[in-house]
Amino acid sequence: MSDAARLSIRNVSKSFRRHDTETVALSGITFELQPSTIVSLVGPSGCGKSTLLRMAAGFDQPTEGQILLNGEAVRRPGPDRGIVFQQPQLFPWLTVRDNVEFGLKMRGVARSNYQEAAQRYLLAVGLGEFSGHYPYQLSGGMRQRLQIARVLINEPAVLLMDEPFGALDYQTRLDMQQLLLDLCARYKPTVLFITHDIDEAVFISDRIHVMSRRPGQIIGSFDVSLPRPRQFETVTAAEDFIRLKLDILRLLKTSDGKGH
Ligand code: ADP
Repeated sequence: MSDAARLSIRNVSKSFRRHDTETVALSGITFELQPSTIVSLVGPSGCGKSTLLRMAAGFDQPTEGQILLNGEAVRRPGPDRGIVFQQPQLFPWLTVRDNVEFGLKMRGVARSNYQEAAQRYLLAVGLGEFSGHYPYQLSGGMRQRLQIARVLINEPAVLLMDEPFGALDYQTRLDMQQLLLDLCARYKPTVLFITHDIDEAVFISDRIHVMSRRPGQIIGSFDVSLPRPRQFETVTAAEDFIRLKLDILRLLKTSDGKGH
């Protein structure tokens, strides 16, 4: 991985204007992602989570405020930020190996280097034996592993993940959360992770920000001090895990009641 990155969200608001109607998606969002930490955003659908992630990726700009990566304003997408969506972005006509090698090949990396790197990242995500398969021959979980390998091979300092495991069955989802923690311990990216699964947020994160309904505002922030490495079976039974999960659930419920 490149050097760990600090991502700063400073007083960010975002409005969309369409046919004279203005939708305020986000209002005054401020938080900091310390280098090599995993930070989750949870909140109801439509509260602006994806909008914020898209702006951190450089696909769109805040209406007010700034997003800074190591002190520099984010203005466009860049190889320092890897993005993982709920639906894997793969080339269906390329094999697993070719999908993973693609980014490095395009950047002109020497064949022996990209081949070696592809093998390493495929092994890291548990797809070492499937390098000759095509995406349609893989399960949903394997496709998501492939997408993660495709992103990691570029060694991004920041991983932006938008409900990456949302479409997977429960067991696969747990496996993927564990895999993500293992990969983060190894490669140490800074991670912004969107989910509306509170168990998932508490299990993987160092810090969690809870958002209100639209316009999305941060209504609570929590440090997750559960020790690492974390194993789902033991962590989710711990008193601290359950207490934190209930605090977040209560906060979301209260904000709902207030009609946010
Ligand atoms: P979340 O990810 O929390 O479900 P989104 O960020 O997708 O929420 O959307 C936040 C709000 O902004 C929604 O009301 C959505 O309809 C609106 N929105 C998002 N993108 C656009 C756009 N390009 N044009 C107009 N409205 C948008």
